[in-house]
Amino acid sequence: MYTVEDWVRYGDELRRPLLVGPKLSKSTKLAIVGAGLSGLSIAFRIATKRPDIEIEILEKTERCGGTIETWSEGEWMCDVAVNAARPHPSFWRLASDLDLGDVFSQSNPRATSRWLFLNKKKSKLSLLTALKMGPVRMFRSIRSARSGGKSIGEIIPNQSVADAMTFGIVNDASHNVDADFLMPSMTKFGEEPPIKWSKIKKMMKQTYPLFTPTKGSIASFEGGMQTLIDALLDRLKQLSNVQIHYQQQYESPEQVALERNVPIDSVIWCAPLARTIEQYTELDVYAVGYASEDIANVPAGYGTLIPDQDIPVSGILHESDVHSSPRAPAGHRLFRVMAPSSRDGDDSKIRSSLKQILSNKEPALYKKIGQRKIPSYSPGYMSKLIKTERNFTRAGWFYSGVSVTHVVAEAERIAELF
Ligand SMILES: Cc1cc2nc3c(=O)[nH]c(=O)nc-3n(C[C@H](O)[C@H](O)[C@H](O)COP(=O)(O)OP(=O)(O)OC[C@H]3O[C@@H](n4cnc5c(N)ncnc54)[C@H](O)[C@@H]3O)c2cc1C
Repeated sequence: MYTVEDWVRYGDELRRPLLVGPKLSKSTKLAIVGAGLSGLSIAFRIATKRPDIEIEILEKTERCGGTIETWSEGEWMCDVAVNAARPHPSFWRLASDLDLGDVFSQSNPRATSRWLFLNKKKSKLSLLTALKMGPVRMFRSIRSARSGGKSIGEIIPNQSVADAMTFGIVNDASHNVDADFLMPSMTKFGEEPPIKWSKIKKMMKQTYPLFTPTKGSIASFEGGMQTLIDALLDRLKQLSNVQIHYQQQYESPEQVALERNVPIDSVIWCAPLARTIEQYTELDVYAVGYASEDIANVPAGYGTLIPDQDIPVSGILHESDVHSSPRAPAGHRLFRVMAPSSRDGDDSKIRSSLKQILSNKEPALYKKIGQRKIPSYSPGYMSKLIKTERNFTRAGWFYSGVSVTHVVAEAERIAELF
């Protein structure tokens, strides 16, 4: 049972299982597989707490950051994947402990509006959207979700709204997404807090270092998410008990244990494990910029979700409206466009849908900046996770939850075991 203090430190993260090996904290040497945000932040947390533990990070590629990468060209700057963090004290603690307070700030309070592009029309997502779903139906669906293993499509009665949300978060249709994994607090997965959730939320609010985020805000780094990865790397390089090895591809935790000469309990696997290509969805990411006068019809906001699968674009984020640090040259605005591979869009289809949704003027910048794979979390995923065999530790977004806040909170929770 977690205490009130635990709940105030981690909030709803405590509903998520920690998939740690039973003897992990007895390790004298650790092998961490994967140098994404998860592997790097676990290494940082444990290495600073326990300088006596030797840590090897084993990364398949030649770079750190994994999914996270910030693209730039001249004064244009765009994150290929995550661009900001939603409020959680764990993430703020990491930014603070890395001395990133001067370059970490709250999103623009005027850029919170979200729109839904449906039936060729844009409408603002609001409480009204939820009411239109029928509050009674909604309440019944959420209650039924408490039996576990349901999809988001089953608990949110309006399919377009449900799809818009799940495409926006995990690039997948709502009937393919496990509600317990995406929203454990809504389905009441896991342990319940010992006191009222509203009280815990209030207490959590007092614990943010750097600044207290306002309701509905997110926060980001000057220089994009790469700033966080670079800061983690800088710190790890200064620690004599940490080594990073690149171009190290391991197939299994057993192979790591054998080749790095550590017990299996000392392996922390922060990478996919036994996933087939079908267990991912894929999307192309574009940076699209306009001269401000050519896009004056689009109000400042957070972004637009597009559930209609006949349109090649599933989401458009208003990058230069959202962040308080610049993402575009003066007199321009930057948008990030997500095009799922399942929608089969080529350049001409994407450009013509941008004309329909954003502006019929030609963009000043149109560039594919990357392609990303997102793990699929099919209904029942979370229930299976709690039954996972735990002779080694699994961490990262395949297990912790999809967002960087989950990954970072999990890293703190793991380090607390030492
Ligand atoms: C387009 C997109 C948008 C996103 N937007 C948001 C957002 O707005 N907010 C948010 O909170 N989150 C967002 N995310 C999610 C966020 O990016 C992830 O939560 C986070 O980056 C996951 O980090 P990780 O370390 O767990 O995994 P990864 O970043 O996947 O890192 C895994 C690492 O392991 C390495 N590896 C893989 N296999 C092996 C092997 N066999 N041996 C050795 N190394 C291996 C990889 O090369 C990689 O470096 C987004 C993701 C995408 C793709």
